[in-house]
Amino acid sequence: MAELGDFLKEREKEGLLRRLSPVTSRKGGIVEIGGRKYIDFSSNDYLGLSDHPEIKVAAIKAIQEYGLSSSASRLMTGDYGLHHRLEQRVALFKNKEAALVFNSGYQANVGIISALFKEGDAIFADKLVHASIIDAMLLSGARIFRFRHNDAEHLRDLLSEQRGNFKNCLIVTETVFSMDGDQAPLPELVRLKEKYDSVLMVDEAHATGIFGKNGSGIVEGLGLSDSVDLIMGTFSKALGGFGAYLAASRETIDYLINTCRSFIYSTALPPYVIASNLASLDIIEKEPWRRNTLMENVGYFRDSLTKSGISVKGASQIVPVMTWDNFKALSSSGALKELGYWVLAIRPPTVPKGQSRLRFSLTVNHNREVLKRLIDEIGAIGI
Ligand SMILES: *Cc1c(COP(=O)(O)O)cnc(C)c1O
Repeated sequence: MAELGDFLKEREKEGLLRRLSPVTSRKGGIVEIGGRKYIDFSSNDYLGLSDHPEIKVAAIKAIQEYGLSSSASRLMTGDYGLHHRLEQRVALFKNKEAALVFNSGYQANVGIISALFKEGDAIFADKLVHASIIDAMLLSGARIFRFRHNDAEHLRDLLSEQRGNFKNCLIVTETVFSMDGDQAPLPELVRLKEKYDSVLMVDEAHATGIFGKNGSGIVEGLGLSDSVDLIMGTFSKALGGFGAYLAASRETIDYLINTCRSFIYSTALPPYVIASNLASLDIIEKEPWRRNTLMENVGYFRDSLTKSGISVKGASQIVPVMTWDNFKALSSSGALKELGYWVLAIRPPTVPKGQSRLRFSLTVNHNREVLKRLIDEIGAIGI
């Protein structure tokens, strides 16, 4: 395997080599890495729930009651009452008939799409969907079509050309995009799904807990729960926990329990993880101030960047500042690191070639003062 070394050298030369940086502590939005503390602008812990006292107590209580592992897959003896309670809760939260919990968002996407679609079907995916959706489409055996990012007209053209050639068709997108922070044109996608007799699936990984009247996501916020067939999301981002879910019809969930390989052939999430996810949903309901404060910070940060002449895309807690060049992204990230901010350079293949960027991920732990200072520093180093 001599080519492994060559591959790594080539990656390094192009400014694309990835390295792990172990965290030694994380508290209140501050991470300690390599003996130094940084203000963390890279986490997905948008609401600060990963360290919430009530949620931690719920997890500890569940460890004491049930131990550390579920010890088997759901279809064996790893199925606890807690899993069912969480699924009922998610169905309510997402305003769908039923829900199914998965071990991670990656496993959810790969399993759901490959179980429901196959050869003879077609999948129409936004150009920028998450890697887990891409892997899912490849695994399914269905024909894959990609529409330009958030371009419903392009999707309509593809559907009108291709719909007749396939049995079942899936339209899949993210409601809030993980690297661009912008939102899908959901009402248009719903119209197209109806016109072209297709299934619509959304990934709400970065919307859940933050958008919508009850914090349940963009679909709820737009009142489209009935029109979106498959609503997927994770507990690992704003909910500060771990695992993922699909909310859908009872029939779809029952079908997946019988066919979805990433659900069937994997040990169920430990009861304490399920208990902490249940507690997070309580907190989302009881403490709307978290998402309100976050969105105030987001408005302030985005406006201030725009005023200082830096154009930012999107409308969410994920704020991409484009550098376009890989090395520029790395050097800007390095300069901010020197100043005490942990902001990652996002490079291909996570984003398309020539679209490298710094991705600022805002959380409720960043107050005005921190943000104001950061904006001044960004101006000073000239990203
Ligand atoms: C993070 C993420 C996932 C994967 O979720 P995990 O629980 O981390 O495996 C899936 N889709 C999107 C859009 C994500 O951002």
